[in-house]
Amino acid sequence: MAETKVAVVTGSNKGIGFAIVKGLCEKFNGVVYLTARDVKRGEDAVSKLKTLGYNASFHQLDVSDQASVDKLKDHIKNTHRGLDILINNAGIAADTTDYASVKKVIDTNYYGLLRVSETFFPILRKDARIVNVSSLLGHLSKIPSAKLREKFSDPSLSVSKLNELMEQYLKDYKDNVAITQGWAASCYHVSKVGVSALTRVHQKLVNEEYRDKNISINSVHPGYVNTDMTDHRGVLTPEEGAKSALFAALEAKNLKGQYIWNDNRIVEW
Ligand code: NDP
Repeated sequence: MAETKVAVVTGSNKGIGFAIVKGLCEKFNGVVYLTARDVKRGEDAVSKLKTLGYNASFHQLDVSDQASVDKLKDHIKNTHRGLDILINNAGIAADTTDYASVKKVIDTNYYGLLRVSETFFPILRKDARIVNVSSLLGHLSKIPSAKLREKFSDPSLSVSKLNELMEQYLKDYKDNVAITQGWAASCYHVSKVGVSALTRVHQKLVNEEYRDKNISINSVHPGYVNTDMTDHRGVLTPEEGAKSALFAALEAKNLKGQYIWNDNRIVEW
């Protein structure tokens, strides 16, 4: 008997993540996990989906907490023995320009995503797909320095070298030289450029380390979406914002390490 397929969406108690879970409940033949760092917000979201006629499972997940990520991984492994779809959607914008706030953005958007993906790599099933929710602001062109752009797009870039770049950014920010060193306009941009770069690095890594598994990892730009993050100024509905992630997770054919926009166009990064 074929095993039941399993999907996990990070940061899915609201916004685009919630719409991605809804879309997966409609289109994906398997168990869909809505996850949230706050249990009450997550359970309320699952109840809301139920009133709409959708059945999602809930598990707590704080992407910035390795113990929380490990707990979800163990649960998925023990209950289902593997994972088919991972959508790395959780993300934040900076509250202030303080170093602490900037560090939190890099920690959540970049390191949180890195942590979740690498924790789940060993239990990914054959043909598994990972979708990293990046942004238009994660385009390489958002980094003014040609020298930095060259480093981010170096075909031999590794996770450790990419981490060094993110650490260099944090140091430059702390030393008040981030702009003169040619980094992007904000930490959010840098975090998402990091996510887009990591997508390519991780694709290369799984091609080498999990060769027989045919794993696809792509990043997406959801569009400018009406959510809490944009103070509801975005022009797309969360359902429209979910489209590129659902496309990459369910429909895309032979796309690996690509950057996909909300009209499902593959954009040169
Ligand atoms: P929202 O603020 O509506 O939702 C963000 C979600 O991420 C919330 O569920 C939030 O949980 C969760 N989250 C934040 N930190 C963590 C954490 N440490 N662990 C787990 N979950 C966490 O934003 P959007 O729906 O707009 O954004 C979703 C993704 O899309 C983000 O990655 C964002 O950067 C990206 N994006 C959004 C665009 C837009 O126009 N809206 C444009 C381009 C990209 P909680 O409720 O607990 O805060």
